[in-house]
Amino acid sequence: MQEERLIAHLRDRPAQLKEAKRQGVKVIGYFPGNYVPEEIIWASGAAPICLACGGSSEMAEAALSVVPHVICPFARAQIGERLLKKDPYYTMIDMLVAPITCQHLRKVSEIWEYNDDIEMFKLGIPHKYNGDFELEYYADRLGVLKDKLQAFTGNAITDGKISEAIELYNRMRGLLRKISLLRRAPDSLFSALDFVKLNHASFYADPVFMVDFLDSVYQELREKPPVSKGDAPRLLLLGPNMGYGDYKVLELVEAAGGEIVIEELCEGVRYYWQDIENKGDLFQSLARGYLADRLPCAFMRDATKTRFDFALKLAKDFNVSGIIWYELLNCETYDSESYFFAQKMGERDIPMLILESSYGTADTGPLKTRIDAFIEIVKGGVAQ
Ligand code: SF4
Repeated sequence: MQEERLIAHLRDRPAQLKEAKRQGVKVIGYFPGNYVPEEIIWASGAAPICLACGGSSEMAEAALSVVPHVICPFARAQIGERLLKKDPYYTMIDMLVAPITCQHLRKVSEIWEYNDDIEMFKLGIPHKYNGDFELEYYADRLGVLKDKLQAFTGNAITDGKISEAIELYNRMRGLLRKISLLRRAPDSLFSALDFVKLNHASFYADPVFMVDFLDSVYQELREKPPVSKGDAPRLLLLGPNMGYGDYKVLELVEAAGGEIVIEELCEGVRYYWQDIENKGDLFQSLARGYLADRLPCAFMRDATKTRFDFALKLAKDFNVSGIIWYELLNCETYDSESYFFAQKMGERDIPMLILESSYGTADTGPLKTRIDAFIEIVKGGVAQ
C-alpha cells in the first residue's frame, strides 16, 4: 500500500489542525464505538477526530490515580492520555462528544469533566437498538448535538451540508468495505494489521484526503498479485475494542503463522458494513444508520444473537477455520458473551480462542503461548 503518502499526512496532521484552529476551525473529539455520526461534526465546519488510542500500559496505569482497576484498560487509557498530555490530539480538541455507551466510557467523560474545563456534549445512547422509542430518542439527541455544534462553531448546519457529509463518509465506508471484502479471496493481498492501521488512520486523517487515499489503495490492490500464505489458517477476529496502537494480538497471530482475514470489533475501528441513506429526513437517516441498521455492540439488549449470526456469516463468507476473541480486562459485557460464542461456535466445530489483555507487558508471554498453540490446533480445518 502507498504507505508513505499516508504516513506523511498523519505526521503533518497535528500541525495542520493547529493552523486550522488559529483560523477559527474547532477540533471536535469523540470516543469510538461508532455511535457519534462524524457527518454532523463535519457539517458544522469543525474537524472531527476520533480519540481511539489504546494498547499503552503507561496510559492505562496513569489513570489509576483517579479511577480503580475495575475500569477497563481502554477507558483508563483515555483518562491517562488526558492526564499525561503526550498525544497532541487529546490536548488540542476544543470540545468532546462523549457517547454514553458502557459504564467504563461513561466514567471517562465524568473524570474529564471533573479534572478539566473542557466543553463536553454527552450523547445518550439507548441500550436497545431495535425499538421505535429508542430510535426517536437517539434522533432527538442528534438534533440536540446539532444545536450544540451550531452554537459552538458559529456555523449553521444545513441539510445541504449534512447531505454532502453523508456522501463523503459513505464513500469512505464504501472504500473500506471494498478493500476489506478483497480478503474473501483465498490468497492474501494485505494483512489484518495493514487493514486495521488503515481503518484507524481514517479517524485522524482529513476525510477528503482519506477518501482519495483509500481510492488509490483500492485501485492498487486490485492490480496486485496475491501472495499464497500456504497452510496459514484463516481466522476471524471478534471483540469489543482494538485501539489505535493496540496491535500486539495482530502481530502475535501473524508471527505464529495465522492469518486474520476479517475483524468484527465494536470500538476502535470505523464501522463500514453499510451506507447511510442520503435522502428524506437526514437526521432520521443518521439515527437509523448509526443505531438501528448497524450491528449492535454487546452492551445493547438483544444484541448477542444478532452479533452471533453476523459472526457466523463472516466465518462462512471469509472461509475461516477458527476465531480469535480478543477482549479487554473487566469488559464485562463482552466477557459474558464470550461463553455463549465459544459454546455455539464449538457446536459448529469452529474453534475459538478467548484472549484478554490488560495492556500490561506481562501479557505478552502468555498471549504468545496460547496463540501459538491455537494456530497449531486449527491448521487444516475449515468452518462449515
Ligand atoms: S472495552 Fe468494553 S468496557 Fe472497555 S470501553 Fe469498550 S465496551 Fe466498555
